[in-house]
Parts: sequence; C-alpha cells; structure tokens
Amino acid sequence: MGAFLEKPNTEKEFSEGSGNGLRYGLSSMQGWRVEMEDAHSAVTGLPHGLEDWSFFAVFDGHAGSKVAKHCSEHMLHEITSNPEFLGSPKIDGKLNPSTDAVKEGIRTGFLSIDSKMRDDFARTEDRSGSTAVGVIISPKHLFFANCGDSRSVLSRKGQDKPAFSTEDHKPGKPNELKRIEKAGGSVMIERVNGSLAVSRALGDYDYKNNPKIPPTEQLVSAEPEVTVIERTDEEEFIVLACDGIWDVMSNEELCQFIRSRLAITDHLAEICNQVIETCLQKGSRDNMSIVIVTFQNAPEVSQDALTKERELDALLEEKIKEVKENFGDQTQLDLVMHVLGMADIPGLPPGGGLSAKKGTIEEILSRLIDRKQDEDSSDEKW
Ligand code: MN
Repeated sequence: MGAFLEKPNTEKEFSEGSGNGLRYGLSSMQGWRVEMEDAHSAVTGLPHGLEDWSFFAVFDGHAGSKVAKHCSEHMLHEITSNPEFLGSPKIDGKLNPSTDAVKEGIRTGFLSIDSKMRDDFARTEDRSGSTAVGVIISPKHLFFANCGDSRSVLSRKGQDKPAFSTEDHKPGKPNELKRIEKAGGSVMIERVNGSLAVSRALGDYDYKNNPKIPPTEQLVSAEPEVTVIERTDEEEFIVLACDGIWDVMSNEELCQFIRSRLAITDHLAEICNQVIETCLQKGSRDNMSIVIVTFQNAPEVSQDALTKERELDALLEEKIKEVKENFGDQTQLDLVMHVLGMADIPGLPPGGGLSAKKGTIEEILSRLIDRKQDEDSSDEKW
C-alpha cells in the first residue's frame, strides 16, 4: 500500500531528552513513501503524581496519518485516565496502581481510544489505521503494549540476544488467523481479506463492522498484548520502532548496532539517525521511526571503541583512495560502496556493516575530490 517517490525524502526529525534516570533519543524519516504517516510519543513524568513514571511509543499509520497522529497525542491520557488505571489506591495523594491495574488500564485505554475515534472520525471519511507499540516504565516495572507489527525490544547487560521482544500481529499467526476466520474473514497473501497486512490496529474501521461480535473479536482488533517485566539492574536499553526499521534489521542486529554505537557517542538522537540512515541504505522503502530509551547501565562511550572506529575510518580512507586510483576522478559514491561491499573490511559496526558507514564514506570521498581539485587549481597557477 502507498506510492513511492522517485527519490527518498531523507530529511530527519529528531530530538533527545532525559528524566527519571532514563535518557531517550528519537528520529523519523519519510524515506521513499509519498506520505509520512508515522508518529511517536516520549513523556517523562506521568499524571496523577506518577512523576517517576515514563511513557514512550511509536505509531505506524497506514492509509493516512490521522489515527497515528491522534494516538500519539491522546493514548497516554486514555490509558491513565480510565477507571481501571485510576481506581487504584492512593498513598500520600499519589496513585499507587498494581501491575494488574496498569495492564488493565492499558488494555482499556487502547479499546476506548479506538471506539472514541470511531465516533469522532465517522463523519470525516477517514479510513486510516495505525499500529502502536509502547512502553510504560515505572520505578519497578516495564509494561510493554503492542498492537500490530511495530516492535519493541529490550536489551540487558551480558546477553547477546534481546531479553524480550514484542510479537508482531500478522494475519497468518495462529491466534490471529483463528479470530479472523471466526469473524467471517480470510487471510490471503498474508493479508486480512487479501488487503490489510496487520491483524491488530487502531482505526481501520472497515474491518470492524460486524455488529454481532465485540470489538476484540472483529477481523482487526485494537486489543493490545501487554507484557509486564520486573526491572533489574541489568537493563541497558529499550528500542521501539516501526516495520520500516525491522524489515531490514533483525532484533539481534539492531541491538548489536545500538550497543556498539553507544560506545562511540552519547547522543541518542545521533544514534537514532544512524539507525535510520543504515536502514535506508539497507533498502527500506517505508517510513521509518525509532525511539531508543537507555537505562543507567547502558554501555558508555569508551576510548577503546573510539580508537577502533578511527582505525576503521583510516582503513576506509585507504580503500577509497585505491578505488579512486583505479576509476579516476569520475568515482561516484555508489561505485565506492559497491567495490567496498566486495572487500573484506574488518571492524565494521556489528549489525550495521558497511551500510552504517555510508555517511563517513561519502565525507571521505568528497574530501579526497576537493583536495584533488585544490591541487589541480594550484597547478594551474604555476
Ligand atoms: Mn510501516
């Protein structure tokens, strides 16, 4: 679904911030798509006295951006203001929700925002929908919520594989397929009724029209899968990203890449930008959005990693010079990437590979070409 541009729109929107012992960065890029339909939320300090709680989410819209945008602005309120969440006892005027209350509050929030939007948007001919993946971080717990095929991954210290990942809601998944068929639908080419590529989403009311069954049993359901994980001292970071990222990087690759970049820079927005650039280079054709949240035990910038990165950059410069000697002044970036792609280059960023160094390669190449031009023009003077 959705048309493509002739050239990707590579402008990035990015920012970073901190609070509650967490730091976060986020970035998004329209990429090859004609429209930008992703949205996100990043909030440290929640209402009802929950100043030490935080909320992060990514919403990947389809067939328009209206539902995604609305959810990014109102989902948190919808979760924290419903009776399931608010009915919890207060201690010293501060809400003290049990894990069950938070879980149920998230579930109710997703379902109620979906039904309110239906009423609000009914008159507007809007047919858009959106995935949602989010995490509420309390001092003791992580509450992951997923609806659709955006994904969140948790990385813990000393573990090569992610400690946790949300499960994508694809129509072919046994539970999803069962619900779709029971609701009178079918799955063709891995899509609901041969059309929608996700089996759970906010919006998409064309798939929620069977008056005989409740919202959670429709062809497409807005019910989130909620997972509670107790915090330890071992959390490094959480990543939330849409399928534009996950289409071209696995959970392991992205975690490895982020971990390696955290040793090079403490600018989280910069790391998010690098992930997006890398995914574009790896061939993602979709809108891309990513949020990275780091905990106090996240890897820190290390002299060793910086030295190794400088050595890598020096090696790349040598290789680029060789390519330039072979191919002359007409050497283009694409050609350099192609030739280097066939070479054995040690020390490339894990999970990102050569794609992750495209920006650096571009800089080196243009510096070499500038230097050549300077030399040529000074030759002329003599
Ligand atoms: Mn997408």
